[in-house]
Amino acid sequence: MNIHEYQAQSILANYGVPVPSGIVVDSLKEAMTAVTELGGRQWVVKAQIHAGGRGKAGGVKLANSPAEVEEHVKRILGKKLVTHQTGPEGKIVKKVYITKAIDIKKEYYLGMVLDRTSEMPVMIASSEGGVEIEEVASSAPEKIIKVRIDPLIGFRSFHARKLGYGLKLPKEQMKDFSQFAAKLYKVYREKDANLIEINPLVLQENGKFIALDAKIGFDDNALIRHPEILAMRDPDEEDPAELEAGHYGLSYVKLNGNVGCMVNGAGLAMSTMDIIKHEGGEPANFLDVGGTATAETVAKGFQIILRDKNVKSIFVNIFGGIVRCDRIANGILEAIKTTKVKIPIVVRLDGTNAEKAAQILQNASLENIIPAFNLADGSQKAVKAAKGELS
Ligand code: ADP
Ligand code: MG
Repeated sequence: MNIHEYQAQSILANYGVPVPSGIVVDSLKEAMTAVTELGGRQWVVKAQIHAGGRGKAGGVKLANSPAEVEEHVKRILGKKLVTHQTGPEGKIVKKVYITKAIDIKKEYYLGMVLDRTSEMPVMIASSEGGVEIEEVASSAPEKIIKVRIDPLIGFRSFHARKLGYGLKLPKEQMKDFSQFAAKLYKVYREKDANLIEINPLVLQENGKFIALDAKIGFDDNALIRHPEILAMRDPDEEDPAELEAGHYGLSYVKLNGNVGCMVNGAGLAMSTMDIIKHEGGEPANFLDVGGTATAETVAKGFQIILRDKNVKSIFVNIFGGIVRCDRIANGILEAIKTTKVKIPIVVRLDGTNAEKAAQILQNASLENIIPAFNLADGSQKAVKAAKGELS
């Protein structure tokens, strides 16, 4: 789960990490009150969306007067912002963060992420702050310093020194940097984050570090331990189909292909996607209707898959273990009737009562139902059907 910059900064502030003072607002009136409350002479108006690259896209604007704040808020709030991370459809900005402007001496990058290869969190720093880290990684990889942190040992001063020397920090800044990095590690561990990105980490004119921008992602499986973070969830930032699927106990992730997949069990769903790719197709989604697929979940699954207009065929690949295939077959017929599915549906049902199920589907003699006899047969047919090559 991801959160907004203003929320990430509030978490960091609770751990003693310096962040610019700011107030989040959703109206122009509130924005102007925020300016008075914050005081000072320069402010930065920042669009709050779950995507980076806001600065380049015009979503982060410096204001030298309250009148300029007003101008920027009018231009950003309620408008669509297209950054390289939002995709061409962009995102509507529903909140802006009014922050005090900071005197920037130098911008760095500091991040943390789980390194699955070494099975340890890794802290990443770069002297090239404010730029996409992926860009630095490809153009100047020597400017990226990484330290792996054994969770059993925790973050130690030698980790901080390695990063600090790599950044060529002057001696006077080492202590402040070291404390900053240690706090970041603490947030990562205690909040079950899987990503923290401070880009830029700013060295101010006064010689102190401050987290100018902040992005934190959390491990969904650990959210049960953090009701305070769950409360930060912003449904506006989530895919409506994924949200609805969650409501019905289905796990759905939209992808970019055209073969819709309806599968029971996450493992089978993954292998179904793999085999579709193997056959030269592209899955349109991951969808696990749950171990015990029922007529209702199958119907809901069809509805959700069909909302994606790219879908040209659906591959139903269900293994009947506890659930009997004949019931699923009836469920599929029910669902097709109620949701009026017109595109080809390739059905592979295997397991308990598979023969009965095949009979039921055959007797229904619906022309868009194509029976499949095993996984390879099913995926080949589904891929062909999506290409319009199945007669
Ligand atoms: P994004 O990464 O989405 O583009 P950032 O928060 O990193 O957004 O802002 C982009 C740039 O705007 C920063 O690199 C920094 O130069 C400037 N900036 C952002 N917030 C402030 C601030 N409070 N004071 C001064 N400059 C800022
Ligand atoms: Mg940034």
